[in-house]
Amino acid sequence: MWITNSPICDVAVVWAKNEEGRIHGLVVERGMEGFTTPETHGKWSLRASRTGELVFDNVKVPKENLLPNKSGLGAPLGCLDSARYGIAWGVIGAAMDCYDSALRYSQERIQFGKPIAAYQLTQKKLAEMITEITKAQFLTYRLGQLKNEGRASSQQISMAKRNNVDMALKIAREARQIHGGMGITGEYPIMRHMMNLESVITYEGTHDIHLLITGMDITGHSAFRSDQ
Ligand SMILES: Cc1cc2nc3c(=O)[nH]c(=O)nc-3n(C[C@H](O)[C@H](O)[C@H](O)COP(=O)(O)OP(=O)(O)OC[C@H]3O[C@@H](n4cnc5c(N)ncnc54)[C@H](O)[C@@H]3O)c2cc1C
Repeated sequence: MWITNSPICDVAVVWAKNEEGRIHGLVVERGMEGFTTPETHGKWSLRASRTGELVFDNVKVPKENLLPNKSGLGAPLGCLDSARYGIAWGVIGAAMDCYDSALRYSQERIQFGKPIAAYQLTQKKLAEMITEITKAQFLTYRLGQLKNEGRASSQQISMAKRNNVDMALKIAREARQIHGGMGITGEYPIMRHMMNLESVITYEGTHDIHLLITGMDITGHSAFRSDQ
């Protein structure tokens, strides 16, 4: 379920357990008997990106389609680490767009004889937005330095992904309020970001599971697996 680009892909990289319970990557090709990719319709988020299922009905995949050299959870986790790191930066961009739009609008919109930017409550929103964006930028910049040195852990990447998506969603909501009624229209980027961020807070690991990853990292206890 929920596979980006599945309806248009030529190949799918699938991680699956073999008879011994070890995870391997394999390349499943469009046209293989029993392999279908039905599209998921009715999405209200990430509508520019096509999503679908990967359905396997007794698909026979030749041995040469096994990804070489890597097996175990580390291989897919390596992919997830990179994607989550990318998301941590990407959502800062969404937050900055919402902030920029809100700042500009607040200076143009006159109410009770003054731009709404001149009212303390608007300034509180804008000041907190830029503070949170700056904190997220520094968190992710440091993570990038660690990544360059090969020292960024999956747990640190989880923390950044979770923090930054949550930060961006909250900023989108505050920015929407600054735009008043206009904020719900397509004339401004706010609702598009907000709706897209609702996917981003769930995919590449949900908000809650990333919290539990941090919890496990600092306590040594897994709160999300019953077998640990
Ligand atoms: C638009 C979109 C594109 C996607 N693209 C891809 C893709 O290309 N490839 C891919 O592999 N996946 C993709 N995904 C899947 C995505 O990673 C999953 O949707 C996500 O991991 C959550 O899984 P789920 O939807 O099954 O929710 P569930 O696992 O059913 O979770 C539902 C809720 O229960 C909570 N929960 C679940 N287990 C626990 C627990 N043990 N303890 C506490 N709370 C728990 C979750 O945090 C969540 O709030 C995509 C999803 C979307 C929405």
